[in-house]
Amino acid sequence: MEKVVIISDYENFVKKICYLRFLSIFRIKISVGYKKAIYETSKEKHPEEIDMVLNIVDILNVHHKKDKYSLIYDYACDYLDNEFQKNNWCCFKNNMCECNRNKPKEYQTSSCCTRTSTRKDCKYLDEEKKRCSIRCLACKLFVCNYLRKKGIKYTANKVPYLKYFLSPRQKLISNYSFFKPKEEIIKSWRRFYKLP
Ligand code: SF4
Ligand code: SF4
Repeated sequence: MEKVVIISDYENFVKKICYLRFLSIFRIKISVGYKKAIYETSKEKHPEEIDMVLNIVDILNVHHKKDKYSLIYDYACDYLDNEFQKNNWCCFKNNMCECNRNKPKEYQTSSCCTRTSTRKDCKYLDEEKKRCSIRCLACKLFVCNYLRKKGIKYTANKVPYLKYFLSPRQKLISNYSFFKPKEEIIKSWRRFYKLP
């Protein structure tokens, strides 16, 4: 069975998510009707403003639990990468973030992936690419005090894919499972399973 949900914008779609999650339990395939066109997946060419809508539809249309969680995880990481990049929150210059540039020299490191006390990089930091090799979701949600004071803060409840698909326990796990790879976090999510 198939259901085409007609939407006018993202907010309008969000109001229907509970209903769509219910349909998804019965494996009803969901598509989106927007501006007289029908879209089945985010993989097809679509207007930029419904990108997030189609990502959520992708998640609704996956029924194998492990695959569904994997997609939620990847879309949440992409969302956070994009947020930090487009807003340039950490403002790296010469391989040092703004927070560290504002510290006295003896406390400076390159970023929060390096310990101040030992000056050792996290074992998951890819030295060559200068980025996390495991895409740790909790680390992506983490914002240091310096940025918090500027009003920048992320939690699982602020990321659409996590907000609509995870239980409160699973959100807590997402917020605090630092230095853990995707597989481990998904394993913990599954212990507090809630998805249909
Ligand atoms: S979150 Fe703060 S400490 Fe971590 S990289 Fe960004 S600015 Fe630096
Ligand atoms: S696990 Fe966390 S601290 Fe370690 S490299 Fe990745 S983002 Fe940095």
